[in-house]
Amino acid sequence: MAQANRREFLQFIGMGTAYAAFPLERQTPQLILYNGNIVTMEAALPRAQAVAIVDGRFLAVGTNDEVRALATARTRSVDLEGKTVTPGFIDAHTHPSYAGLRHLRMVDCDLPSIEKILAAMRERAAKTPPGDWVMGFKYDDTKTAEGRPLALADLDAAVPDHPVFIEHRGGHTGYVNSLAYKKAAVDQKTPDPPGGRFDRDPATGRLNGRVAEHGKDPFEKVMPLQFSRDDYREGVKLISKMMTRTGLTSVHDVLGSPEDLRAYQDARDAGDLLFRVYCFLGVAHFEPMLAAGVRTGLGDDWVRVGAVKLIADGSISERTARLSAPYIGRPDDYGILVTKEDQLYEQAKKAHLAGWQVGTHANGDVAIDQTLRVYERLQKEYPRRDPRFRLEHCTVINDDLVKRIKTLGAIPTPFSTYVYYHGEKMHYYGAERTTHMFALRSFLDAGIPATQASDYPPGEYAPMMALQSEVTRTDRQGNVWGPNQRITVEEAIRVGTVNGAYASYDEHRKGSIAAGKLADLVVLGRDPLKENPATLVTIPVERTMVGGRWVYEA
Ligand SMILES: [Zn+2]
Repeated sequence: MAQANRREFLQFIGMGTAYAAFPLERQTPQLILYNGNIVTMEAALPRAQAVAIVDGRFLAVGTNDEVRALATARTRSVDLEGKTVTPGFIDAHTHPSYAGLRHLRMVDCDLPSIEKILAAMRERAAKTPPGDWVMGFKYDDTKTAEGRPLALADLDAAVPDHPVFIEHRGGHTGYVNSLAYKKAAVDQKTPDPPGGRFDRDPATGRLNGRVAEHGKDPFEKVMPLQFSRDDYREGVKLISKMMTRTGLTSVHDVLGSPEDLRAYQDARDAGDLLFRVYCFLGVAHFEPMLAAGVRTGLGDDWVRVGAVKLIADGSISERTARLSAPYIGRPDDYGILVTKEDQLYEQAKKAHLAGWQVGTHANGDVAIDQTLRVYERLQKEYPRRDPRFRLEHCTVINDDLVKRIKTLGAIPTPFSTYVYYHGEKMHYYGAERTTHMFALRSFLDAGIPATQASDYPPGEYAPMMALQSEVTRTDRQGNVWGPNQRITVEEAIRVGTVNGAYASYDEHRKGSIAAGKLADLVVLGRDPLKENPATLVTIPVERTMVGGRWVYEA
């Protein structure tokens, strides 16, 4: 047997088929997929018809004849019937464990009308003992048919006998009913807390149900937000199911806690982890791990310790990103820097010196400038080979910033689905500024490997939506925002695969379909490269494979 394999091996090398150097006993494929239109994202072999897989990795990639010749009696073969296959997609900035817990315990309020949201809350209340909390999340005030925000009276009428708290999609505000105010001991006379607000009706001065920033704290203190270890595991199971069915095979959890890291491992032990995770740790959790000697890269192909997460400024959707020019219609409002530069430097320095990758949330151009200054200083004072500094979001840029990002070798993770899904918020920024937001064209032209990133829950995560948003720069109402930043479908696929792998030091393990790499792939119902860009989002994901195993089949 060994000899036959050796002959095959030589033969395949000679034929130019991409072939992995596996030990001889591992050269018999367990699975062959053939008759595919396989988009490999490999320059040496951009298209293939078939792949052979063994032990969760690609053994060979090539023509039907080349690959099928490897089959033995023990090989299972699957006819792809001409379907298009791409590498599995990588979401380089998302919050899966956090989102999973919410999907497990809260009502998903991403619904087209207040009426539908109230109906969903009412339905959940009917199954909840009176007096217990009914919680919702993903409510977006700019997306409901009524064209007005949720009001206290809405929630009191729909759910009178349970305290209610609905999180805004952006995460910085909440909507409550009268019973919730009572439980949180907030009444008409309670003053706004520092750094927060209990919103009031401007006409009557009475509480109106909306609470902002630290105004959420008294509610979160009394809400049942303590999750058990089982909840965490179940949350990961649920979200990994949801995400893999859209074609994601790897995610970067960019604000993990030790509980999240444990949850991914627990889910994996239970056989419920369907995607691979690169787990960032918030700066508060970083010190104990540093003390334990952990650094970027510890783990395995399923769960790996990633970077330390720092935060420079606020958010795009809630207009707290720190900009050099004010928000449209708010001449004195430039947004907020949440961390001072010297403090950011001290945090980043500690991580940098310990051999950790550093990722800093920086949306506005002022925050990006500050973050780059910190990174540039670190590389000057303590040069490190290949630190791959990350700029999380990196939303509003200019030519000078792009040059510095390139020089530093830093990696931006701009929102991929924002233009398409949150287009109604783009007028906060104005047409001119949107020509250099989520600036993939600028990044790619400069040779910067920007990634695909959803930030879910705030943003949607389906890779096909990311493709449509990045290629068309058009929202769901047909408005075009920053068409100069359009990229091609092929480039968008590369952003979502190869570049995502690079951002976590995984370029030798994943991101493309090549012999030796992890067998992570997606089977699509139609070919995105032949699709009308305006309908990319409707391409069905038929199957998703992670490590040679189908984790989703339509
Ligand atoms: Zn985020």
